Amino acid sequence: MALIVQKYGGSSVGTIDRIRNVGRRLMETQSAGNQVVAVVSAMSGVTDKLIGMARQVMDNPPEREMDMLVSTGEQQSVALLCMAIADMGGKAVSFTGGQAGICTYGSHTRGRIESISPQRIIDALRSGYIVVCAGFQGMTPDGEIHTLGRGGSDLSAIALAAAVKADLCQIYTDVDGVYTCDPRVVKDARKITVLSYEEMLEMASSGSKVMQARSVELAKKFGVIFEVRNSMNNNPGTIVQEENPAMESLAVRGVSIERNQARVTVSSITAPVAYTAIILTALADAEINIDMIVANTAHDGKARQSFTMNMNELGAAQAALKKVLPQLGPEARLDTEAGLAKLSVVGVGMRSNSGVAATVFRALADAGIHTGMIATSEIRISTTVEASDIEKAARVVHAAFHLEKEA
Ligand code: ASP
Ligand code: MG
Repeated sequence: MALIVQKYGGSSVGTIDRIRNVGRRLMETQSAGNQVVAVVSAMSGVTDKLIGMARQVMDNPPEREMDMLVSTGEQQSVALLCMAIADMGGKAVSFTGGQAGICTYGSHTRGRIESISPQRIIDALRSGYIVVCAGFQGMTPDGEIHTLGRGGSDLSAIALAAAVKADLCQIYTDVDGVYTCDPRVVKDARKITVLSYEEMLEMASSGSKVMQARSVELAKKFGVIFEVRNSMNNNPGTIVQEENPAMESLAVRGVSIERNQARVTVSSITAPVAYTAIILTALADAEINIDMIVANTAHDGKARQSFTMNMNELGAAQAALKKVLPQLGPEARLDTEAGLAKLSVVGVGMRSNSGVAATVFRALADAGIHTGMIATSEIRISTTVEASDIEKAARVVHAAFHLEKEA
């Protein structure tokens, strides 16, 4: 008998019919002789709708009340799912994050998992129940509800799989797995069979929306092997696990794209020292997440620094930087550019294969696509392009590495 954790995302439980479909799948998994723990998201759109309602009431709702409100999304879906199972003659029990033993710390709306005491889950499994846990939430030792950040049900699933020592952790979504690129953009993109944690992490944080990046980090930390699969069919998915030597033969595993990028440039900086610290501190204090950074000194001795960030952060970044401009010199100025996108290629094989960057930029140049800022990690190369070029860019780079062919 195996213990299986199955996580179902919002689209997999997006309608009552789909909730029934998930109930049926859980019952089948149990009937095949397994113990089953499900971790479930809110029905698709519900979390956004709840956040929208809060904003109608006031601009900056207290974060404690936001947690109280948005955590109800998952409570709806777990209760409905258990009812669907009861209706089909099965035996299931739903738990909130707190009831499941997920203990959190940190601040409201960004809770972090401190520990999990899964005894209640284990007891229910032993009594023959399918256990259905609300994702995205936990409780502090003094009984406050925390949510875990957007996409946090993935984190709940990985953490629970580690805590109950699951034999298998399956992340069910509305696609068959992780693809070499978004199939809506690159028609001959292929499903990747096996991926390392690091590749998955780089892909998740460079635009591949399949899974929350934090949850991949947690899986790596606890060695939770998981599989991303489709809740509407029985196709094998993508297995994500520790890197192995075979994975290195391929320099590039996938191409990720991220839209809605913007660039901010501070130029004519004459403040002699510490200007980078001044700029970055101003952005950090405003809690702005910046991505790429490029700094250089022009021939006239004036310095210049550019950053990219999500479009949503542009306004706040401008406001934060305007305040510190006077500290950067009398002529210091701020320019912004919206309408950018980011293309990234990812693969652990990059460490041992040379010429990857050359191939990327040759393919883009041959297609007449201008590139802007560039950033790299050991296993990723990213560049900005005009938003209107991003789909073409993805296609030519995907083709340049022959990703349409089976590895
Ligand atoms: N319902 C939450 C969200 O939309 C958590 C999740 O679905 O993973 O972010
Ligand atoms: Mg999700």
